[in-house]
Parts: sequence; structure tokens; C-alpha cells
Amino acid sequence: MKAITVEPKKPGSARYEDIPEPDELEGSVLVEAIAVGVCGTDAEIVEGKYGWAPPGKTRLVLGHESLGRVLDPGPRSSLKKGDLVVGIVRRPDPVPCANCAVGEWDMCTNGQYTERGIKEIHGFMSERWRIEPEYAIKVDSSLGLLGVLLEPMTVITKALEQAFIIGQRAYWEPKTALVTGAGPIGLLAALRLKARNLDVHVLDRIDSGPKPQIVRDLGATYHTGSVLDLDFHPDVIVECTGVGAVIADSIQHADSGGIICLTGVGAGGAAGKVVADMAAAAVLKNNVIFGSVNANKRHWYRAGQNLKNADPQWLGRLITRCEKPENFQMALERQPNDIKVVIQFSEI
Ligand SMILES: [Zn+2]
Repeated sequence: MKAITVEPKKPGSARYEDIPEPDELEGSVLVEAIAVGVCGTDAEIVEGKYGWAPPGKTRLVLGHESLGRVLDPGPRSSLKKGDLVVGIVRRPDPVPCANCAVGEWDMCTNGQYTERGIKEIHGFMSERWRIEPEYAIKVDSSLGLLGVLLEPMTVITKALEQAFIIGQRAYWEPKTALVTGAGPIGLLAALRLKARNLDVHVLDRIDSGPKPQIVRDLGATYHTGSVLDLDFHPDVIVECTGVGAVIADSIQHADSGGIICLTGVGAGGAAGKVVADMAAAAVLKNNVIFGSVNANKRHWYRAGQNLKNADPQWLGRLITRCEKPENFQMALERQPNDIKVVIQFSEI
């Protein structure tokens, strides 16, 4: 079968090639790939900055934002042939740490977890893949291709769960929310904050393309420019850019008691003074700045409900490009109007 593979830590090693059928050890459920979403992590792996092949192997099958159709449910699953499924990405560490032991592998403390398409387990960018029944999440068939948004939705479902749990540390009545970065994660954050009846604002660098109208159609407000120029102080900020200056501005501009949820990783570059100012602002306003990564089964289950409750037409506008697997390099190259790009392996 065909797959998109890469030799991790070796730039330019990605290729679309023939590999053996998936190993039965990877799970008793056999799935035909429909689509796989592409994100910044995939680009980093292809650029040789990140990623680990399975033990004893040199190459890794890429892809962690999956959507597939069950070909063979195997002997011990409640799935049926033809069901649409998405694969959970992370597996608990083998020790396991206390968090993994209770199924909260998203909070793994020893770093020995594995992740499909990222860390030591093959991903989903192959014509067929296998999965353990307990890690296959069935998605409503009415979602169709939109099911490929489940993994990004789990990230936001977890992040907002954490933000609102943290909010319970004190009497807290959040009214305004700011999302920085109008990529797929940011737009899904805006969708879910709107569902919590907040006054939602989204800030991004660009003022063209589909993003401004997509935000307005949610009933949210679109901004460009600096966070510091906003004429209000948000109660909740979901930071999705990972850009040092945006993070620093967000921390400084949050309201008292505000909660800043960092979901973006990357373009840091914060100098000493900036970090000091950030810390001071957080301390003096009793703010919580927290990191959030990955999601556990509870979040995956909830995310499926969140997708199903959303307007499918609006969700569909987040998928701005579908590429064939052989054109995966084009899928990885960011274009100005891209929101979510998917690689489509078969018809839905
Ligand atoms: Zn662990």
C-alpha cells in the first residue's frame, strides 16, 4: 500500500512510497484512510525538527489528524464495517506514571508516552491503518469529511475544560474572550467560546482571505494589529500563535482574574525584560497562565459531541484545501488563505 513516510530528524526525507500492509500488532481494527489533516507539527517533522520512528525502524508513517472507514472491525470491537472512525493519537507510557495509569495520558509526567505519526508509532497517512478498538473513536456518519476536524477539536475541548476548571478557583463570571491566531485551533476555540455565550474576539495578522468573515459569521469580532491596542481586557485568552510577542502582550492585557491558556508552541524569542514584565503582570493580577497539550478520552468523546452540535456549513469552511497523497508536499506548504488543509486518500 501507499503511505507518506519520513525519516525523522532528516530534512527532505519525506516521500510517498509503497510500504507493507499495517502490522496486526498495531490493532485488531483495520481502517481505510479517508483523509488526514495537516498541521504545523507535520511540517516540523518533514523539516527534520521533530519526530521519532518506531523502535528498530528508520522511517515513520506521518499523520495524526485522521479520518477513516472501518474495513474490518476485528473480533472484539463494537464497530461495524463502514463506520467512520478517528484514531486517538497518544498512548500511555509503559511505566506507567500515575496520570497514564488513570487514563489521563494527556497529562503524562514522565514523557515516555508515544504518539501516532509523531513519536514511535506509525501515523495515519497510509491507505490502510490498524488501531486498537479502545483507541478508535467513532464519529457520526453525518459529519462526513468534517470528522477530520475531531483531533483539532479535542485540543480545544481539553484546553477550555482546563481554563474553566481553573476559573473555579474563585468567583468568576467571564464575559469577554480573546483568541489570538485564526488558524483551525483558534477558530474552533472561537466556536466553543461562543457556545459558552461569551463575547468572542479573534485577533490575527491578516485582514484578507476567508478568516474575517468566518469569524464574523460566528457572531464574533475580528481584529488585526496588537493585542495591546484592544479597547477591552479579556477575561479569557486562548493563545494559538506561539509567538513570543503575542504571548507577552496577552499576559499584560488580560483582565484581573484573567486566565490565559497557551496552546501555541514555537516562535518564541522573548528577551529577559519581556519575560520579567510578563511575570510581573501575572503576579500582580493573580492571573493564571497555563500550558495545555493533547487530550484524553473524555475530551475525545466530548469533542465528537461538540463537532456534531456545530453548524456543518460553518465547519466545512475551515477545510480550505484537499490535496491528493502524491501531492503531500503541496499540502505541507502554507498558502495565504489556508485554514485546514487535508490530504484525501479516498472518497467519503
Ligand atoms: Zn505517563
